[in-house]
Amino acid sequence: MGVVKADAYGHGAIEISRILCKEGARWLAVSSVDEGVALRRAGIDCRILVMAGVMPWERDAIREFRLTPAVHSVGDLSFFNDSAEPIDVHLKIDTGMNRLGTHAAVSEIAAAMKAHPGVRIEGLMTHFASAADFASGQTDEQIARFNDVAAELGKCGIRAPLIHCASTNAIAYGRAGLTQTLVRPGHAIYGYVSPARGDAPASSVNVAPALSWKARIVAIKHLAPGSRIGYGGSFVAAAPMRIAILAAGYADGISHRLSNKGKVIAGGRLAPIVGTVSMDLTTIDVTQSPHLRPGDEATLLGREGDVSLDAQQIARTAGTISYNVLCGISARVRRFYVE
Ligand SMILES: *Cc1c(COP(=O)(O)O)cnc(C)c1O
Repeated sequence: MGVVKADAYGHGAIEISRILCKEGARWLAVSSVDEGVALRRAGIDCRILVMAGVMPWERDAIREFRLTPAVHSVGDLSFFNDSAEPIDVHLKIDTGMNRLGTHAAVSEIAAAMKAHPGVRIEGLMTHFASAADFASGQTDEQIARFNDVAAELGKCGIRAPLIHCASTNAIAYGRAGLTQTLVRPGHAIYGYVSPARGDAPASSVNVAPALSWKARIVAIKHLAPGSRIGYGGSFVAAAPMRIAILAAGYADGISHRLSNKGKVIAGGRLAPIVGTVSMDLTTIDVTQSPHLRPGDEATLLGREGDVSLDAQQIARTAGTISYNVLCGISARVRRFYVE
C-alpha cells in the first residue's frame, strides 16, 4: 500500500500513484477524502485507503469514489452503516501512539459489528510511534497489544483478511512478532529511511532520493567588503565576494531557518546561503564559482557530480525532519518526471 498523502510527500500524488499502480501496487493510502477523490478523478483505479477522518459531509463521496475509510472508533462503524450496499472498512487500533485509532474493548467492537451488518472489517491496522528506535520498548508493547486485540477479535469471529502495521521504519529495520499481509511505506518510496537508534539491524531497504529540486540563478553581483545582504542586513561581506540570487524562497519551501545556515549546490560545489531567505529569492555565495551566470541552475536538493544534498541533511540544518522538507516543497514549484 503506497502512501501518497500530502501530494505524495511533495512529489505529486497523481504521477506517483500512476507509477505505483503500474508497478503492481494494489493499494494506495491518502490522508483525506479530498486527496482520494483527486486520484479517482485522475483515473487512478486501485484501492484507496483514507487514513485520517471522514467528515459527515464526506460520507457520500466515500461510496461515490470507491474510497475505503480507516475507522477509528465504534461510532465510526455506525456512521458507515448507512446504505443497503455493504462497505469495507479498515479498523485502526490505537496500540499506544495515542493519535488515531480506537481504544474500545473488543467486546464493544464485536457488539457494534453485530449491530451494523452493512460494515465489513476488511483490514485491521495500527501505527507505530517509534519503529526506528531500538532503545525503546514502545514498538514491542504496541505489537503485543495489537496481537492481543487481533486474537480476541478472531475469537469473536472478526478476522480481517488484511493486516497492516508497518510504515517505512518498521519495514526497513524489521520488527519481531509482527504478522501482516500488507505494509504502508511512504518515505521509503521517495528514497528515504530514517536513521535508527539503539541496537538496530541494518536497514533492509536500499533506496536513494527520488527527487531533485533546482532553481535558476536570476542575477549575479559583486559585493565590496562591508556590504550587507538581504532583509535585516544579517550578512555582512567580510571580503570582496560574488553572490548569486536564486529564484526560489520560503514560498517555494526553502525553510527560512536556513538563513545564513543552509547550503545549496552551485557550479558543482556547496554554496552557502548568505543573508535571510526571502519569500521568492535566496542569496548564495558563489565566489568560488566564477563561471556561473544568470540562467544557470543551482541544486537545492540533489546531486551535482560528487556533491550531494538530501532532505535529511537539509532537515538537520533547519532543525526539522526530512518529511517536512519534502512536503514543504510548495505547489508552485514545477514538477518534471524523468525515467
Ligand atoms: C504517513 C503514514 C504512513 C507512511 O509512513 P512513512 O514513515 O512515510 O513510511 C503509514 N501509515 C500511516 C498511518 C501514516 O500516517
